[in-house]
Amino acid sequence: MLQYRSTRHANESCSPSMAILNGLAPDGGLYVPEDLEVLRLDYREVLKEDYLGMARIIFAKFFPDLAEEIPAIVEASYRGRFRSEAVTPLVPADGKWILELFHGPTCAFKDVALSALPNLMAAAVRKNHFEDEILILTATSGDTGSAALHGFSDVPGTRIVVFYPDEGISLTQRLQMTTERGRNTAACAIRGDFDDAQRGVKEIFRTMPHPAKGIALSSANSINIGRLVPQVVYYFAAYRQLMDAGRIAVGDPVTFVVPTGNFGDIMAGWFARAMGLPVEKLVCASNSNEVLADFLATGRYDRKRILHKTNSPSMDILVSSNLERLLYFVCGEEQTRRYMEELGEKGAYEVSSAELESIRACFVGGAASDEEGAKAIHDIFSSDHYLMDTHTAVAWAVSEKLEERGILSEAPQVILSTASPYKFTRSVLAALGEEVSEEDRRNMERLEEVSGVAMPEPLAGIFDREVMHRDVIDPPAMKEYVKAQAEGR
Ligand SMILES: *Cc1c(COP(=O)(O)O)cnc(C)c1O
Repeated sequence: MLQYRSTRHANESCSPSMAILNGLAPDGGLYVPEDLEVLRLDYREVLKEDYLGMARIIFAKFFPDLAEEIPAIVEASYRGRFRSEAVTPLVPADGKWILELFHGPTCAFKDVALSALPNLMAAAVRKNHFEDEILILTATSGDTGSAALHGFSDVPGTRIVVFYPDEGISLTQRLQMTTERGRNTAACAIRGDFDDAQRGVKEIFRTMPHPAKGIALSSANSINIGRLVPQVVYYFAAYRQLMDAGRIAVGDPVTFVVPTGNFGDIMAGWFARAMGLPVEKLVCASNSNEVLADFLATGRYDRKRILHKTNSPSMDILVSSNLERLLYFVCGEEQTRRYMEELGEKGAYEVSSAELESIRACFVGGAASDEEGAKAIHDIFSSDHYLMDTHTAVAWAVSEKLEERGILSEAPQVILSTASPYKFTRSVLAALGEEVSEEDRRNMERLEEVSGVAMPEPLAGIFDREVMHRDVIDPPAMKEYVKAQAEGR
């Protein structure tokens, strides 16, 4: 049976369901499947299925000890929960393809994983006769928070605490979190940025795995393997839709362009490729926080720089946690541990040229500024009447830049669209050359008028909901905050 192990130590291994429950390995590493060969499958068989069928096969591959429960988990997670029959529909726009991942309950791609994670966790609890209550601890740059709060809201046996940066997220994102009504939920702002929140959360995991008697911590961030695996499915779903559209025949290569922050979404694409899907290149698109683009160009990962607040805030990240999983598969656990220590102590590390070459066999990096993203939103709306959000626009702009430099092949390009344009209304309206009001309700209505694209149902009415969560704290107070939540104070 497939086991999971830590990216930093060979002997920290556990079952798939325990990897989901633990979230982070005890040594601070991330869980990875011990043997990639076990994951390989005949991708042609997967492509014969609909979305739910693909999810059943892929979940069972990664989580064999939950195999019996997986059909029910997939059913509960996806049937009727997305506003599209296809779950993640693929639409053509201006010569490329857009994979719309935002038709879930909170209108961001995080819903694809966070619809499934509570069900996976509940199954893992049963499997392991786990008696502790689970406290989900999550740092968010905006979208994970609302998707996780929604996913875990009033799920028996769980509580959830979300930390988000007090500044640098959109008002809609904030309201989606602070108006969450579940009695087991807490959303708390941090006077700091996402990296502060993520560092604080990792520190709490390391030093306080049981914040109170009978309470065990787990994570809904993409450091949790249960978060990553559901994202593998839509790479297959996109491929199948390109076949259905007559754009490719089975076996043809496809390039995916992924707006990247914590490297989770794109890492799921790497797993899809490792399973056998014909993925040509994974384009890692960054906004003006170009850490990953620089890393892919030079082999040096350097977080010692200023974090820019951009209008694609969910990608405003300097420490992309999931890159550690890729490093593990390329460099092995000893090097990975060393690199992570260097990152912690010196703020930077550099991989060898052979390691970089091996990474670049699959990954291409690029970055686009707010202005370049805004131009993409404007241009594609003008030419094709397709409305993108600011994160998707970064990916679009990067794809254009790489094409101009002749870097990408002729393979069809799928741009992963990670959020509804209505989550970032101000920036999208500004990009279209429209006046932006101080009042976001007005902005949403205006965007609807201008674009003719209907406001997604979950965002309509957000301004009328009661704010339930008002806490704002400094990063050093996070630990005490979690303790208080765990003790029910
Ligand atoms: C989280 C997020 C991203 C980045 O995804 P990662 O898995 O962290 O790389 C991109 N766009 C949006 C809208 C997001 O919410």
